[in-house]
Amino acid sequence: MIEERFDAIVIGAGMAGNAAAHTMASRGLKVLQLERGEYPGSKNVQGAILYADMLEKIAPDFREEAPLERRLIEQRFWMMTDRSHTGMHHRSDEFNEEKANRYTIIRSQFDRWFSKEVQAKGALVICETTVTELISDAYGKVVGVRTDRDHDTIFADVVVLAEGVNGLLGPRAGLRQTPKPDHVALAVKEMHFLPQETIDARFNLKGDEGVVIEAVGSISKGMTGMGFIYTNKESISLGIGCLVSDFAENGQTPYGLLEAFKKHPSVAPLIQGSEVKEYAAHLIPEGGYKAIPELFGDGWVVVGDAAQLNNAIHREGSNLAMTSGRMAGEAIFQVKSRKDPMTKQNLALYKKMLDDSFVIKDLKKYKDMPALLHTNSKNFFMTYPQLVSSAMDNFLRVDGKPKVEKENASIRSFVKRRTLRGLFGDAFKLARAWR
Ligand SMILES: Cc1cc2nc3c(=O)[nH]c(=O)nc-3n(C[C@H](O)[C@H](O)[C@H](O)COP(=O)(O)OP(=O)(O)OC[C@H]3O[C@@H](n4cnc5c(N)ncnc54)[C@H](O)[C@@H]3O)c2cc1C
Repeated sequence: MIEERFDAIVIGAGMAGNAAAHTMASRGLKVLQLERGEYPGSKNVQGAILYADMLEKIAPDFREEAPLERRLIEQRFWMMTDRSHTGMHHRSDEFNEEKANRYTIIRSQFDRWFSKEVQAKGALVICETTVTELISDAYGKVVGVRTDRDHDTIFADVVVLAEGVNGLLGPRAGLRQTPKPDHVALAVKEMHFLPQETIDARFNLKGDEGVVIEAVGSISKGMTGMGFIYTNKESISLGIGCLVSDFAENGQTPYGLLEAFKKHPSVAPLIQGSEVKEYAAHLIPEGGYKAIPELFGDGWVVVGDAAQLNNAIHREGSNLAMTSGRMAGEAIFQVKSRKDPMTKQNLALYKKMLDDSFVIKDLKKYKDMPALLHTNSKNFFMTYPQLVSSAMDNFLRVDGKPKVEKENASIRSFVKRRTLRGLFGDAFKLARAWR
């Protein structure tokens, strides 16, 4: 039974919750953080690319102690057909900097470290405790939480909802809606363990250098989705995800897509001989700007995935989660320092900070994310990769046929499938959805 009153209760110890708790505790606020998992990170899934800049703003010296896997020096984008991939690789020595911009991490280890930092700043963190309900006063102001530990009730000036994409508390309290099927992707991921030197050799790496591959094309069977292959020190994270509404319409299973992805001739050699030790499935919010719910109210704020703060086009989530958590923490600290109450009006400061940051500015750029993601997905994920692959084949194959005949055949193939006109149509629709 916890009888103390807190300045703030944070629900969830993922990226957003840890950022919020760290920010408030380091400024001297009395913070309680509740996490339903056995330990922070035990429930959390990410690819996982960590964007250093956002963590540096919270824990400037994180590189010295955080469990980082590899420093990313190369990005590969693949456009795949069933038998090929056509790629764009970007490897730059600019990324080979001491303070790298992106790292791979393993969330179960990283979140544990992040939580220790939060505790070191003075927050009380209790795991294996699920918040079952928000408690409101007679005026509707959130004043605390009820947990599954003997229906314990705990009171605080403000509650930070950092409960992730499928958190139940916000919808249950009527603060936001459950995400719609075309506003979330379902991703599945496996961890393939291999010796470090095997990974280095297969991906042309040395030391703590890392590479990530992101792939689109026939692997998603015409649905809007993406596959990924990320190098860790002694493992490869490999996964694929598509919009939930697409899975429902197409009758494909996430597991079926993952199996096919692993068997693809471009992928199988990279994971050959590996030992699979983990399998996970998780939702990713992809509703974009229009899907962002009310972010604050009397006695509460919502941060991270729970607030749909995720940039699907740029594959960024944890950085938006950390930034929103930090800004919520800073706003709460400012309201508290002025000795003002945690009213909706005062907590609007959090929204103002977010509006002025890259988080909302980037999401606003793709106002209608579902429309953008659904722009003729069959063409973008099936037809165009196929056309690019056959054009490359024609260009590269040396078989005694005159080049002009092969080029004409390529053009005829485009025209036959009416894709030249279609291409302009798709580009137009894409541009319309973009803005
Ligand atoms: C397969 C996959 C790959 C991804 N790859 C990347 C990537 O490479 N880079 C990137 O930046 N982002 C990536 N993301 C997105 C990223 O993982 C999320 O944006 C980020 O984890 C959001 O953090 P969060 O704190 O909001 O939510 P979460 O990390 O989900 O944390 C929510 C926490 O709340 C706890 N919780 C929920 N309900 C309760 C309750 N009632 N009581 C107590 N505790 C509760 C949960 O147990 C959990 O610990 C990926 C996501 C997936 C699924």
